[in-house]
Amino acid sequence: MSAAPAADVAGRIAGTVRADIRELAAYPVAHADGCIKLDAMECPYELPESVRDDIARTVRDTALNRYPAADLSALQAAIKTAFGVPAAADVLFGNGSDELIHIVVQACCAPGDVVMSPWPSFVYFDMAARFDHARFVGVPLTADLTLDLPAMLAAMREHQPKVVFLAVPNNPTGGLWSDEDVAAIVDAAPGLVVLDEAYQPFAEHTWMPRVLDAPNVVVMRTVSKIGLAGLRFGYLAGHPDWIVELNKLRPPYNLDVLTQATLMTVLRHKAVLDEQAARLRADREPLAAALAALPGVRVFPSAGNFVLARFSGKLDGNAVHLALKTRKILIRNFSNAHPLLANCLRISVGAPAENAALLAALQEILSA
Ligand SMILES: *Cc1c(COP(=O)(O)O)cnc(C)c1O
Repeated sequence: MSAAPAADVAGRIAGTVRADIRELAAYPVAHADGCIKLDAMECPYELPESVRDDIARTVRDTALNRYPAADLSALQAAIKTAFGVPAAADVLFGNGSDELIHIVVQACCAPGDVVMSPWPSFVYFDMAARFDHARFVGVPLTADLTLDLPAMLAAMREHQPKVVFLAVPNNPTGGLWSDEDVAAIVDAAPGLVVLDEAYQPFAEHTWMPRVLDAPNVVVMRTVSKIGLAGLRFGYLAGHPDWIVELNKLRPPYNLDVLTQATLMTVLRHKAVLDEQAARLRADREPLAAALAALPGVRVFPSAGNFVLARFSGKLDGNAVHLALKTRKILIRNFSNAHPLLANCLRISVGAPAENAALLAALQEILSA
């Protein structure tokens, strides 16, 4: 046997893989070995030794030869208590909220149906919609990167979206849409509104107590931004009847036993997660202020564990991003992502020493 000629493989792919998929690039994940990593809103703090010992013990006693149990009620109860989900709501678990986004789109959208979000926002809303044969409509934010409510209402009237995703606070801009604006969108939406509260612990603001008030709202959360990005766990809370429908799309056994065991253990130490989030909240404003004091830098208000900054001095966003990368500091470049984000870079709030290293590097780069 000899391997098939590359041209034959290419020909078969061209005739088989969807044209829109062939044109896409995979979701960018930077190589980070030896770098200061301020590009992905991870928590910079590792769990304390005592919690890690506790995890090691539970994981050791977890049977790996069996599929995960069908009954998730213990974890559901623990999650509801830990994160303030109303008793009368149910929760659906996903392998990260990325999986939950797919589940929602697949459950609600026939091919060509519209998924909508203010834009720019979380890129995976757009990607998941396309993968699942829906049509994504992004409604531009204002030039100040705030929600354009009249534009949103008009776009919903025109496109009748089956699903509206609202990231509150929004990623990558950091803005927190007002309750009045969110309520107006929920009222006017013909289908489901998913409130993506990935950054809720940093905003200290939530729709969760109201999740059952409207017939068309679910609240989605993740543990990725509060210290557990490596676990891959997200949850979606809503009326039990919504959860019954969405649960039909959940891949069987999507939540592995190690994740379940680890979560049950970590939730007994929830205060540790809360304390880490509080530290990041406290460090956000000093970082934003120091960035805003640099020449030619505009910082947008953020309710997340990150800030978006526009660089319009001698160096443009691409040049600043590259100069930081050369110094092994990773942040996320949105300069070329959308016209509203021209020369914008997104910086996660890191540990104090990381923030200081970033600021020192920027001082040097911008004064060179
Ligand atoms: C990071 C992020 C998520 C990602 O969640 P995972 O649980 O890690 O898949 C979801 N929504 C928004 C807006 C995010 O920024």
